[in-house]
Amino acid sequence: MVLATNLGFPRIGAKRELKKALESFWKGETSKEDLLKTGTELRARHWQLQKAAGLSHIPCNDFSYYDHMLDMCTLLGVVPERYEWDGGMVSLETFFSMARGNAKVGAMEMTKWFDTNYHYIVPELEEGQAFKLSSTKIFDEFAEAKAQSIPARPVLVGPITFLKMAKKKTGQDFCRCTLVLGAVQVYIEVLKKLESMGAEWVQMDEPCLALDLEDRYRDAMKTAYKMIATAVPNLKIMLTTYFDGLRDNMDTALGLPVAGLHLDLRRAPAQLEEALKNFPADKILSVGVVDGRNIWRNDLRTSIETVKKAVAKLGSDRVFVAPSCAMLHSPIDLDNEKKLDAELKGWLAFAKQKLAEIAAITKAVNEGESAIKDILAASDAAAASRKASPRIHNNAVKTRTADIKPAMFERASPFSKRKGVQHAALKLPDFPTTTIGSFPQTTEIREARAANKSGTLSDADYEAAMKKEIELVVRYQEEADIDVLVHGEAERNDMVEYFGEQLSGFAFTQNGWVQSYGSRYVKPPIIFGDVSRPTPMTVKWSSFAQSLTKRPMKGMLTGPITILCWSFVRDDQPRETTAKQIGLAIRDEVADLEKAGITVIQIDEPAVREGLPLRRADWQAYLRWAVDSFRLSAACVKDTTQIHTHMCYAEFNDIIGSIGEMDADVISIETSRSQMELLEAFVTYKYPNEIGPGVYDIHSPRVPPTEEMDALLDKAVKVLNVDQIWVNPDCGLKTRGWKETKAALENMVECAKRARAKYARKAA
Ligand code: GLN
Ligand code: ZN
Repeated sequence: MVLATNLGFPRIGAKRELKKALESFWKGETSKEDLLKTGTELRARHWQLQKAAGLSHIPCNDFSYYDHMLDMCTLLGVVPERYEWDGGMVSLETFFSMARGNAKVGAMEMTKWFDTNYHYIVPELEEGQAFKLSSTKIFDEFAEAKAQSIPARPVLVGPITFLKMAKKKTGQDFCRCTLVLGAVQVYIEVLKKLESMGAEWVQMDEPCLALDLEDRYRDAMKTAYKMIATAVPNLKIMLTTYFDGLRDNMDTALGLPVAGLHLDLRRAPAQLEEALKNFPADKILSVGVVDGRNIWRNDLRTSIETVKKAVAKLGSDRVFVAPSCAMLHSPIDLDNEKKLDAELKGWLAFAKQKLAEIAAITKAVNEGESAIKDILAASDAAAASRKASPRIHNNAVKTRTADIKPAMFERASPFSKRKGVQHAALKLPDFPTTTIGSFPQTTEIREARAANKSGTLSDADYEAAMKKEIELVVRYQEEADIDVLVHGEAERNDMVEYFGEQLSGFAFTQNGWVQSYGSRYVKPPIIFGDVSRPTPMTVKWSSFAQSLTKRPMKGMLTGPITILCWSFVRDDQPRETTAKQIGLAIRDEVADLEKAGITVIQIDEPAVREGLPLRRADWQAYLRWAVDSFRLSAACVKDTTQIHTHMCYAEFNDIIGSIGEMDADVISIETSRSQMELLEAFVTYKYPNEIGPGVYDIHSPRVPPTEEMDALLDKAVKVLNVDQIWVNPDCGLKTRGWKETKAALENMVECAKRARAKYARKAA
């Protein structure tokens, strides 16, 4: 019999219970017992949901009070010295110090988990790192699940993924693979204990098998699982891979002495054939057919066919049905969406609905399709309506997208010519100053928006309040003597949502939260249909702002790749097509801004780097359409109109050529935290256009003295041309207060003025 299984359930609670419990605990408003009680309740609720859905393997230890990689650090005793761990069981206090910092030391580093928008705590390893079992969490949760008669399958991040995703202690250089023996000793201890507690299966996540792996990691993988198989021969290990296909790691994965292997057949459906060709006779195959990280309803018929293919080859006792990856990245319950219309809802499935899909697919394979007749009919109907609905398919947009000509990616003249034209038109000084867009989002602004949304503040009053805010920001910037002004983005809630709400083809949920990190959750828009821009989105605000001043006012837009990367994207057409459609919509806005007399337009693209595919072999194709989509959005303007783009912290080294190809007249980037180190990429590559390397860090309320900014700018002058450099902060100011913003911007303008005097150009 084929079994219905899951790899992980979202931990945050359908009403964001975990966030509330964590934040009130951190503020000291509630006790540790209160927090733990919330955890217990959430786990029980999620287990019961999965049990009720009919699942035979239900994950435990997928829950976390912060992050599952941090849980692994405590399990293995990988605690950096500065947290003054006493070497016993890691306490919740130490756990949160590592996650968030404490009075004495900062938090551990955080970075994106593969190509998701989830951020994990990066384990820090030192040379000769010791490993020691230092947490009972996994055992406690397994016991808890057993006590509730849950067929629980404990989940662990596997040793190779743990090591590969960790970083080395600053200043040390050694191979993380050399630590595998030590780490595996603790894994073995954990597995033995789980076995003695009655665990039949344990899930070990090794998503690093979806990456380009060096041979030494492949060898470490073989060593690790051989040691485990030898030490705990009777415990069944389900080795899970996800986020992409195994490709050149397939043989390694198939050769491991484990009881089961899980494949992501959403991201890489074709790998099923390949795996089945040589699938070892001693293994179970877990087929990931329900998308664990998107929100689309499963086309059950297709999934059933896929599972049947596996069953035909392996027999029904050797196949598990599963989501493609843990559902951590999916919202929880579609039933809680009261504002989405029935048709749209009919195309979606959140975690709870995905459980039912897994169960239905399993049942159909075991008992025949007639056993789920009605469910299947509903699935067929949803698939058919998604194929044909005029709400999804807009022929005008499709035709326009298909008709994109290469000339539409090209500005009228090359930058070398545009530069002079723009300088003549804008008459800016050397080292022109500007900001990244947003000004402090004060409580009054947020309250006005909330009141307008709930209906207690009329649209006219809301608009008046925002205009007042804009006027304040404009007056302030004139006073501060900033050269290129912004309107401050007071009217925007979020840089993607604001545009999504005005574009066709987007929908928004009320409760579709997914964990970004710790207690921070995001509610990504859903791009469900062909995208177009029915009416101008920002022109009214930008024109108003421009009418207040003679200085150039930057129009502010979010770019197509960022909108794409921070949304749930439709799965019925290539991402490239969706990106191009958004590019066209933004292009329309750019054209209208220009028509309205806006001469400087910034198109933010902080997400370009994070959109990179996991495998290098796929980078070029992605970068081609990503760059083209940006150019499509920007290239329609006259030479005199200056296009800016902004990217936050990003390693540019390996993609700098593509950043250059975006051909923005000016790019602002985050460089202050790395002391301008990030500029190196631009220098080696000889970036031809203008650059604003952020001279101060907006992520902290600290006001850097002018001298500090001078020093950073001096570094920039050493490697860039004077007529290439802009002076600006690292990023938008919306999370800052006015007081520090004013002080820092005043220092920044002073820094630019000093630089003008110091580096006065001979030609001038
Ligand atoms: N223009 C945006 C702002 O200033 C840019 C934000 C970002 O880079 N993430 O807020
Ligand atoms: Zn930024």
